[in-house]
Amino acid sequence: MEDLILNHANVITMDPNLPRTNGIATQDGKILAVGSNDLLKRLRHKNSRGIDCKGNTILPGFIDAHLHLHGFAESLVTLNLEPRNNARSILGIQAKIKASSQNLPSGTWIRGKGYHEFYLAEKRHPTRGDLDAATSIHPVKLTHRSGHAHVLNSLALAFVGISKHTPDPPGGLIDRDLMTGEPTGVLYGMSDYLSKLIPTIDQNQLEEGIKLANQKLLSSGVTSIQDATSYNNRDRWEVFQHWKERKLLKSRVSMMLGGEGFDEYRRQPFPAYTDRKNLHLGGVKIIVHEVTGRLTPDQKELNEMVLHIHRSGFQAVLHAVEEPTIEAACSAIEYALKEFPRSDHRHRIEHCSVCTQPMAKRLASLGITVVTQPSFFFYHGERYLRTVPDSNLRHLYPIATLMKNGVKVVGSSDCPVSPVNPLIGIYSSVSRMAESGEFVLPEEKISPFEALRMYTDEAAKTTFEETIKGSITPGKLADLVVLNGDPTRLPVNEIKDIEVEMTILNGEVVLDRMR
Ligand SMILES: [Zn+2]
Repeated sequence: MEDLILNHANVITMDPNLPRTNGIATQDGKILAVGSNDLLKRLRHKNSRGIDCKGNTILPGFIDAHLHLHGFAESLVTLNLEPRNNARSILGIQAKIKASSQNLPSGTWIRGKGYHEFYLAEKRHPTRGDLDAATSIHPVKLTHRSGHAHVLNSLALAFVGISKHTPDPPGGLIDRDLMTGEPTGVLYGMSDYLSKLIPTIDQNQLEEGIKLANQKLLSSGVTSIQDATSYNNRDRWEVFQHWKERKLLKSRVSMMLGGEGFDEYRRQPFPAYTDRKNLHLGGVKIIVHEVTGRLTPDQKELNEMVLHIHRSGFQAVLHAVEEPTIEAACSAIEYALKEFPRSDHRHRIEHCSVCTQPMAKRLASLGITVVTQPSFFFYHGERYLRTVPDSNLRHLYPIATLMKNGVKVVGSSDCPVSPVNPLIGIYSSVSRMAESGEFVLPEEKISPFEALRMYTDEAAKTTFEETIKGSITPGKLADLVVLNGDPTRLPVNEIKDIEVEMTILNGEVVLDRMR
């Protein structure tokens, strides 16, 4: 491995000991020294490669603390039904399904992702009937942009055995025709249920997707990701290992476990990956929701689940979007801490989308980290302003309020729910502006530096890795991103257009647009 001397750069280290400098020297995949151009010149040796950064800005490699890599990869090789991709009506969706079914042998699954009823002309979910009209000889599964709703055509419903007589599974909801009781094809909160019944995407196709996802991560400067999929288990762990061994996926991975995967792990721990800085196990993800109108899992069950995770020394990662679920998540963590006090637990709440100030205080007092998605107000702000009830809109993603009350807030994309680019998350946190040009709670703006912390040093803490990543400090991993603009100095509206010039991972240049 060659050592690098990066000079003539505007280095933002995120390390309070030396916040800004001009250059970085790496050795054996780690940061050897940071300092002035002169100092680094002395460290040069015959096997080192000098890189003139031409005044570009260097930051620690970005950390995306919550995404879904399988879903991301799949989204890159399945039908893209996002509004920006011309899926603005059910008719448009039908046309895409029809087109893709042309050369497919009958019985082959067709998968589509990213639709949202708000952006469809009809303002509703497609139904089985809509999908049947596009093809009746291929099973079709569409996934809502949130990942929490699906639509199946009649063939797919029959395949998974859902009929008029199927009861709603725990935590799920089969939408039914009011007159006939027949399933409409729309299924809520049933991702886990369907994941067990519908065959996974063809391995070769998935591998194509992973290659593309890897490229997107590197070209966004994301050197570490945390996979927050609630059905991650031993099989998924083996798939990640396989991708790592074959070098299909370069960014470092922390894979969370789902509840069932955790039980599996407790019965028999999975063998650790040879390079734990490259792939390791994170916390245990539990989805707390009210899809069916009541809290799932219920409070008592949730308390016991969190206590079990907590006592085992693991980190609880609780998906909670609206107030009652956040409240329940707090209560469960409080219960676990009372039963079994443990400092520095780093339990997390994911999304925490609607949060009042008293709730922020409660989160802070329990030491809970919030992992949220600032880019949502850029991509979905227009919809929030039109559809979120006023009582919730006033408390939507209140990042400044959370921070002021002492909550640690970390950024992520929830990709494929929104694209992976952290600069959009940083931009939206600072501007609070939607893509449509409208403000979403401008009083919740934070500074560019605070926004950078959400994707660097604060994010590193969520996996207990702050001693090896998150800042440009001698001894830490040489994971770096070179940008063509300084987010702390540019006018706010230009932050979203900053481009990644180079990505360095473990001291290796893995993306280079500077030549
Ligand atoms: Zn998610």
